Amino acid sequence: MKNAFRRFMANRYGWDELNTLLFIASFLLRLAGSHYGNGYWSRGALVLLFMVLFRAYSRERGKRRKENGAFLNAIRPLRRLMRRLKDVRHYRYVHCPSCNKTARLPRGAGKVKVTCPYCHFVYERRV
Ligand SMILES: [Zn+2]
Repeated sequence: MKNAFRRFMANRYGWDELNTLLFIASFLLRLAGSHYGNGYWSRGALVLLFMVLFRAYSRERGKRRKENGAFLNAIRPLRRLMRRLKDVRHYRYVHCPSCNKTARLPRGAGKVKVTCPYCHFVYERRV
């Protein structure tokens, strides 16, 4: 019995960020469905939940990894924004005048000389 379970679980994809989002979305849809008493919402929640299970137990790990990669790529600007909001009190973001790449500097250090890690251009900023 234990072996059968292990064989069943072998090479399954497992959990990832996309599944977390789908799972939360499914939960919210379920809540909305019970709040509005509308069957369509709940059915949508079931479909999402099915997708979560399908992805987690899928043996096509390459495909699932690709899906998750595309998802992470799509939300990258959002994640960057979240990170900046999180450390806005301790860091300042400045742009390189030469190549426009962003550098993160600790706040309160006064006037600092910045060497751009991408184009090695040197500039000064007050932080
Ligand atoms: Zn630069």
